[in-house]
Amino acid sequence: MNPEPLAPGATIGILGGGQLGRMIALAAARLGFRTHVFCPDPASPAFDVASRRTDAAYEDEAALAAFAADVDVATYEFENVPAGTAAFLAARRTLRPDAAALRTTQDRLEEKRFLDRIGVPVAPWAPVDGPGDVDAAIAAAGLPGVLKTRRFGYDGKGQAKVADRAGFVAAVGALGGRDLVYEGFVDFVMEISAIVVRGANGAFGVYDVGENLHENHILRRTTVPARVPDTTRGTAAALAIRIAERLGYVGVMGVEMFVVDDPTGQRGAQRLLVNELAPRVHNSGHWTEDGAVTGQFENHVRAIAGWPLGSTQRLGEVTMTNLIGAEADDWLSIVADPGARLHLYGKAEARPGRKMGHVNRVVPPAG
Ligand code: AMP
Repeated sequence: MNPEPLAPGATIGILGGGQLGRMIALAAARLGFRTHVFCPDPASPAFDVASRRTDAAYEDEAALAAFAADVDVATYEFENVPAGTAAFLAARRTLRPDAAALRTTQDRLEEKRFLDRIGVPVAPWAPVDGPGDVDAAIAAAGLPGVLKTRRFGYDGKGQAKVADRAGFVAAVGALGGRDLVYEGFVDFVMEISAIVVRGANGAFGVYDVGENLHENHILRRTTVPARVPDTTRGTAAALAIRIAERLGYVGVMGVEMFVVDDPTGQRGAQRLLVNELAPRVHNSGHWTEDGAVTGQFENHVRAIAGWPLGSTQRLGEVTMTNLIGAEADDWLSIVADPGARLHLYGKAEARPGRKMGHVNRVVPPAG
């Protein structure tokens, strides 16, 4: 399907209407595409900037069929697209990334099995489907650890830190009793992410690895370049490329990793453990909008449209700071700094913990 690059004027369909969908739509518009956003929430930030919108449930097949008929290629901005929705669309239009990539990455257990299969290191883990699995999980992954739901977790939701056996059993109950994954706790020195893009023809781009600081499980800031040795940077990029290649992936993907000091390795040696794959543009890639030759959203659009990829070259030292909840109310003082690039998502209500926007600051190299 879609052997030819999509010409400007074609319509890109986006499942999901949050800020990621909004920024994909903005990038698509800049390249001359139309966009059609499908989202069940009438207050979706992406609706404001899309050419067309469908406000319907993901299970509404009549609405999905009309959406499929209207678009030339479909993509998604979040990994919890129901499998049935993805299959229904994929039968009618090219879906990029494809339904198999979505299936692998929307389920932590499938994702870990896949990463094990392709030899990508992850924290020790075990599936948990009831209190009867607790002892085997502790034997496999140790204590302390983190118990996570297989699906629908984000920003720390659907997970519990586990310190001892009794706490583990309680956490199993609190997280629904089944469909869980237990991971040994990783004593990381830093969290980083690699944003990789793979084109429809198999070409790759990887952005410089960013260093991620989380607060209350929510990304607070990404700083690029990450303060890690070149070898770590190179390994992170190589892992991200291997993952995208083995998934047959088309589009932008975020690969979150833990950096762990390796006392058995050479002086300064570090190991990387992949924490999570995001089959979409990623918050830790927002810096690329102002800090790289081609931003992640444009490269995602290029990839799914079958275009050549744009350069991922970094333009300087970059920080991306999320504006969470009421922090976005300070927009006027933020734009008073001429070096601050403000991105607001147009969300009406600044609930605590809600991502309302972000600010990029780029310091170009001297000279
Ligand atoms: P996740 O939803 O899997 O990305 O986890 C959210 C955050 O929880 C991560 O960015 C880490 O800060 C922390 N975390 C998750 N899993 C582990 C782990 N196995 N060991 C240590 N910290 C973790």
